Amino acid sequence: MLYEVFKLDTVKTLKCRECGKEYPPTKIYACEDCFAPLDSTYDYESLQLTRRDFRERPKSIWRYFELLPVSDRSNIVDLGVGYTPLHQADRLGKTLGLKNLYIKDDTVNPTYSFKDRPVAVAVSKALEFNATAIGCASTGNLAAASAAHAAKAGLPCYVFVPNDTEHNKIVQIGAYGANILTVNGTYDEANRLAIQVSEEYNWVFPNFNVRPYYVEGSKTLAFEVCEQLNWSPPDHVIVPTGSGALLCAIGKGFDEFKTLDLIEDVNIKITSAQPHGCSPVVTAFKRGETVVEPLEHPNTIAKSLAIGDPGDGAYVIKRVKESGGLAESATDEEIVEAIKLLARTEGVFAEPAGGVTVAVLKKLIENGHISCDETIVCYVTGNGLKTPQAILNRIPRPIEIEPSLDSLKTVLKPKEVTVWSR
Ligand SMILES: *Cc1c(COP(=O)(O)O)cnc(C)c1O
Ligand SMILES: [Zn+2]
Repeated sequence: MLYEVFKLDTVKTLKCRECGKEYPPTKIYACEDCFAPLDSTYDYESLQLTRRDFRERPKSIWRYFELLPVSDRSNIVDLGVGYTPLHQADRLGKTLGLKNLYIKDDTVNPTYSFKDRPVAVAVSKALEFNATAIGCASTGNLAAASAAHAAKAGLPCYVFVPNDTEHNKIVQIGAYGANILTVNGTYDEANRLAIQVSEEYNWVFPNFNVRPYYVEGSKTLAFEVCEQLNWSPPDHVIVPTGSGALLCAIGKGFDEFKTLDLIEDVNIKITSAQPHGCSPVVTAFKRGETVVEPLEHPNTIAKSLAIGDPGDGAYVIKRVKESGGLAESATDEEIVEAIKLLARTEGVFAEPAGGVTVAVLKKLIENGHISCDETIVCYVTGNGLKTPQAILNRIPRPIEIEPSLDSLKTVLKPKEVTVWSR
């Protein structure tokens, strides 16, 4: 039994990002010596993956099983996450003056954000660690993904949310049967409570006590883009940044495909996009600093990016710099305009985090930082139906008519009406 577990383990070690010390892949999430994050490493030498291997595989993140940290396939909690569309965005590209623009559309994951990717891995891991429940402190997307996957795994889920959390998010989380605990306090206080809980009970908190495994789910966003571009990697990707875990994972994904010779060893620029009201990484990058100064009071409509003290902030700066990418922010006004532009040109309705990437792309083009023939991928990570209030007052009001053709004719635009000939 023990032998089998070791034989099946895809992860070789957990390696400290700072001092390089390696640990066996257990439920440990920070280096004992320097408290830095740990990264999953795999036996890249003996993995004999070829492009052809992926042809017949399921259209979900689990097609990359060998590169995900789950030991036994029977533990996979599978809601069909991932392998989302990569849209060739010709109409948006034309508007912005780009020839090769793509939208990676993660608005269509099972719970409507990319968080399904890391949470699918974390909850599968919870089964391997015999956790008795899933717990999470969150204000939205992470909680919804955790609640849905806990339901599928048959595990109870406890969600700690600040008491001012939006109604529609509570409804989604509640529908999956999670226990919702509204904490009389801020998100940070809810989070501190969650940490105390994790010290008391054998619960898995996806983005906390199994973080080295959790983050691995997000690197599939790099793998899929390579495959969907027929194995020729993009020149430049734009990634929304909150804690920075997503951007670092995407960088790691491209690195792993290079290591495995699945893609050519070309440079891929990685750009970090933040909302102006919470842009500590962009501020540090522009000042040429390598550490990120925490922001006390984030204030932005892009709430899923409103993390004032980004855990991976310094690593984002490192990745962005090494890749030759940039860091830029967009105001709430620019974010709303970008949400509308994306929806109207490509038919993709994003939450503000997705608007941030498109708004930042627009700004970088206007400032001459991007040339028109680069192949660019914009990551759009969350669905607009999660946050209708962001644009509610910025779309045209419905037009009221009587149920008659005459009434309709009074409101139609003449040039849109041509007579149908039989
Ligand atoms: C969490 C989240 C992000 C940011 O991910 P980080 O890993 O915190 O940087 C981006 N978009 C959406 C929709 C999210 O929910
Ligand atoms: Zn260390």
